[in-house]
Amino acid sequence: MRVRDHVAISSGAAALLYPRLGRSVVIPWAASIFIDVDHYVWFLIRYRRLNPVAAVRVFNSAEAPKHSATRPLHHPAAVLSLLLLGRHRRAAVLALLGMVFHIGLDSYHRARMAEAQAAVLNRDHLTCQVCGAQQADVVAHVWRQPALLPSYRVEHLVTVCAGCHEAAHAKGAVAIVRPSCGWESYRNGVAQRALTRPRIPAAGNQGTAAPRAYAGRDATGRITHLRSQKEHPHPVGAAPDTRRR
Ligand SMILES: [Zn+2]
Ligand SMILES: [Zn+2]
Repeated sequence: MRVRDHVAISSGAAALLYPRLGRSVVIPWAASIFIDVDHYVWFLIRYRRLNPVAAVRVFNSAEAPKHSATRPLHHPAAVLSLLLLGRHRRAAVLALLGMVFHIGLDSYHRARMAEAQAAVLNRDHLTCQVCGAQQADVVAHVWRQPALLPSYRVEHLVTVCAGCHEAAHAKGAVAIVRPSCGWESYRNGVAQRALTRPRIPAAGNQGTAAPRAYAGRDATGRITHLRSQKEHPHPVGAAPDTRRR
């Protein structure tokens, strides 16, 4: 779940709890938002870089790291230690309340999203809706979301292959657009990006020359598949013209 969604939901919950907790409601509110700082700490250690923009880019990429080391504060061990440490401290109990609220929201979000993703892969018959590829590496990508609070509507997700997924999340691309955006314009943007951008080097692999992807099109000009420069050395639109020789 996006940080802004956590901020919105936690602020709503804090407003409801204010009559009961008074000003100390700020403790669970802050804990439920700043628990996500563990992602940034993981980024600092892993990449030895301070740049928060780079950190956001890593977590917004198609291959965003999701393993538990990226979120040690979300681990039951962290929650349990706070529970033991804070048995007699009200502030610690309140912070724990905020953390548990955040972790619960994350679990709910993951379950609802996994359900929607499975439905979308079935709906699209495991076929990339950008380039038409039918590969084992297709994923359900969230292409459209409200500005605030997540939506689990299947219309907001689409099946894409690994190459098109990278293009959708590439630097400069808009991985997620508002519900007002039409699918065709989004698809065209992703297809164009897949054609012109080199593949993103995998984490820790920066600097390795990655193959560029080119599209294969059918007679109507519809993109039917993408292939690497190695397999297809002619850029799209510049294929050898056999009529003028
Ligand atoms: Zn995605
Ligand atoms: Zn594709």
